[in-house]
Amino acid sequence: MRNDILNIKNCKRIAVMGGTFDPIHYGHLVAAETVRQELDIDKVIFIPTGRPPHKINSRLASDEHRYLMTVLAVVTNPHFDVSRTEIDRPGTTYTIDTIRELRKKCSDDTELFFITGADAINQILTWKDPEVLLKLCHFVAVTRPDSSTVKFTENVKYYKEKFGADITMLEIPALAISSTDIRKRVFENKTIKYLLPESVEQYIINNSLYTDDTGKKTYNTDLINKKLRHALTEQRYLHTQGVAEMAVRLAGIYNEDKDKARVAALLHDCAKCIENDESLRLCREYGVPLDEVLLAQPDLCHSFLGEKVAENDYDISDKDILSAIKYHTTGHAAMTMLEKIIFIADYIEFGRKNFDGLEETRNTAYEDIDKAVYMCLKQTIDFNRKKGRLIHFLSLEALNYYSNIIEKGDKT
Ligand code: NAP
Repeated sequence: MRNDILNIKNCKRIAVMGGTFDPIHYGHLVAAETVRQELDIDKVIFIPTGRPPHKINSRLASDEHRYLMTVLAVVTNPHFDVSRTEIDRPGTTYTIDTIRELRKKCSDDTELFFITGADAINQILTWKDPEVLLKLCHFVAVTRPDSSTVKFTENVKYYKEKFGADITMLEIPALAISSTDIRKRVFENKTIKYLLPESVEQYIINNSLYTDDTGKKTYNTDLINKKLRHALTEQRYLHTQGVAEMAVRLAGIYNEDKDKARVAALLHDCAKCIENDESLRLCREYGVPLDEVLLAQPDLCHSFLGEKVAENDYDISDKDILSAIKYHTTGHAAMTMLEKIIFIADYIEFGRKNFDGLEETRNTAYEDIDKAVYMCLKQTIDFNRKKGRLIHFLSLEALNYYSNIIEKGDKT
């Protein structure tokens, strides 16, 4: 908090409100105010994220814009403050560093709280030094209405048993508002009035934020489908449509970008109907590394080649979409949410012929995506082993990673 003049003297209960705030909206403000009142907090410090490790490729409004919008939003509340600590800290920003820095500025008997979305808290074992972090502060997970809390409840129990963590959950109806939706509305020229403070709305207009495709890219799915009809067999084309439907459904459940999910799903098999010899030739041309498993089973190349075909023939530059296509067959350890959605949607779309375990995996996917990934990996690997096929090392690494999460709750 080197550049901050925070008024936290005499504060015995301080809460950090961490998020991207791209842009900040009434959902965030109502959440912070509710937590302040319910947990008797003296001061809530909003800390816009700097460069969090999980978002290296994502495109945010500039740090300065996000910081200034946050300042405008909280200025009228004497219990709220904003800190630039994360946006001014060079390199990747970790919550543990922020909390340690704050701890040094408080008296020993000050209690610290960290408020953020429940989805983020579900991922906490992937953060830096999670055991220390869970001991240094209480966590408050704020959830959107109707979001599934099954996984969260299991995680809270586990964090409590293993690390003695103290985590509270609060449902905030106002969180039906989302930053993604606001950015999309601005891009589509729709009103954002009453979703955020007027000062922030004016700031967005005056600075032309979210108006070009750096905020939200739109995709011409009609054109994509037209090209796919030529590139795929009828059966494969129908499967692709089923995967898209399922991917959008999962994206809704897990707060992922539905447009990206649809495009990644439509294109996941874009190189599937290329003959093996041609597929190997194209892999060499595009520089796709051919390991022994791919050379022995060239049909497996289609996902790695699919990434290149999507980029070159379908004009896709979005890194999240491209990596979801690339890994949809093998999976890999620590997949992004979009990668998990495409990996699973491919397996459980409604057009699939029924097989043992399909319905169970489908139902699991709606509640606990990591568990569903594990089930898909396990069933696919067992099936391929029985058929005498080689298993790609990425799938084995993924199985190991997700079995640790599911069976031992250990992400390290
Ligand atoms: P995010 O991308 O901004 O948000 C993820 C989801 O949670 C979104 O649906 C978002 O809604 C909601 N959300 C985020 N912050 C919220 C808040 N304070 N109150 C209510 N809803 C909130 O956030 P994130 O990148 O996951 O990060 C959340 C916090 O966790 C940040 O402080 C970040 O630095 C920390 N984090 C730390 C590490 C690490 O230390 N290794 C790793 C990951 C995250 P909106 O889109 O509507 O905001």
